[in-house]
Amino acid sequence: MSAILVVTELQNNEFKKSSFETVSQARRLADSLGQTVTALVIGSDVKAKAASLGEYGADQVLTAEDTKLENFNPDYYKTIVIEAVKKVSPEIVLFIATLQGRDLAPRVAAALETGLASDCTGLEVVDGSLEIEHPLYAGKVFAKLSLESPVKILSLRPGVFEAKMNGKQAVVNSLELPALESRIKIKEINKTGGDKLDVTEADIIVTGGRGVRSAENFKIIEELATVLNAAVGATRAVVDSEWRPHDEQVGQTGKVVSPSLYIMCGASGSIQHWAGMSGSKCIVAVNKDPEAPIIKRADYSIVGDLFEVVPALTQEIKKIKG
Ligand SMILES: Cc1cc2nc3c(=O)[nH]c(=O)nc-3n(C[C@H](O)[C@H](O)[C@H](O)COP(=O)(O)OP(=O)(O)OC[C@H]3O[C@@H](n4cnc5c(N)ncnc54)[C@H](O)[C@@H]3O)c2cc1C
Repeated sequence: MSAILVVTELQNNEFKKSSFETVSQARRLADSLGQTVTALVIGSDVKAKAASLGEYGADQVLTAEDTKLENFNPDYYKTIVIEAVKKVSPEIVLFIATLQGRDLAPRVAAALETGLASDCTGLEVVDGSLEIEHPLYAGKVFAKLSLESPVKILSLRPGVFEAKMNGKQAVVNSLELPALESRIKIKEINKTGGDKLDVTEADIIVTGGRGVRSAENFKIIEELATVLNAAVGATRAVVDSEWRPHDEQVGQTGKVVSPSLYIMCGASGSIQHWAGMSGSKCIVAVNKDPEAPIIKRADYSIVGDLFEVVPALTQEIKKIKG
């Protein structure tokens, strides 16, 4: 029986929501293809958490633990994934299309000289083979493709696939670690995000654009985000102006997000921003210009001054939430 290998990701030593989404998706595919699911967990102290992946459909969890693996090092992580591939002999290897996954998946594909489909937004089994949906031209069109190579490497866009619990129990095994060598030396890690909710993991995002006008004015965006338990996002215009950190940038040269609700305040909806958030399930735009591109594309639009609309929204939501 062939296998699907899922390379999971942790943040602050907890599984990212997208890890559960990807394992659930592997389970769905495995059931259609008659395969098993093995999840790989890489880190320095991960064993205690590993079994929880069974609840999302993993049959087996492989743990790779070493102090060297506490932080992402592409050389070490690539070596570990290749070792897991040797052990499990998967037909499909699933990564998450995060910054880490987008770095790691091509390295593994190149090392194994095999096919890669990145940032996948849809997966179906058609006549026993895998049909992959993948956005092109900044999300303007979607291609359907299949990989012919014996090992198929995919990265799945976070937030697109449902994380579904199915109460399975996984067997947890340790992966025998190969020698870990790297020419990369990590000298210092500056965590910009702290413990704040990352845009790729958030179910609701409130984004501010150039219309917010200053770093100080982002207070009203933060207040709306707080009452909604949302993450704050930013356009590149905002990040380039140094009003917000780069880890909040959404778009072609930022992060790709697919939340349930994406609220855009004072952002025009440029094609480069759209590339990062078009997969949002519901888009709300607040813009004073009725001709702004986002007004035509959003599910709901409020044409008005964000400095009046956003605080009023915050107050109303506070009232509703009591
Ligand atoms: C190669 C490349 C990559 C890029 N990558 C990205 C990327 O990853 N992410 C990204 O975001 N951009 C990216 N850009 C930049 C992109 O082209 C736009 O310049 C940028 O998205 C515009 O940001 P904005 O919507 O905040 O600003 P603007 O386009 O200036 O829009 C500001 C909006 O605010 C509205 N507004 C102003 N005042 C108010 C008010 N008081 N109340 C309500 N509305 C108001 C205006 O009507 C306007 O629609 C990229 C560009 C290039 C060339």
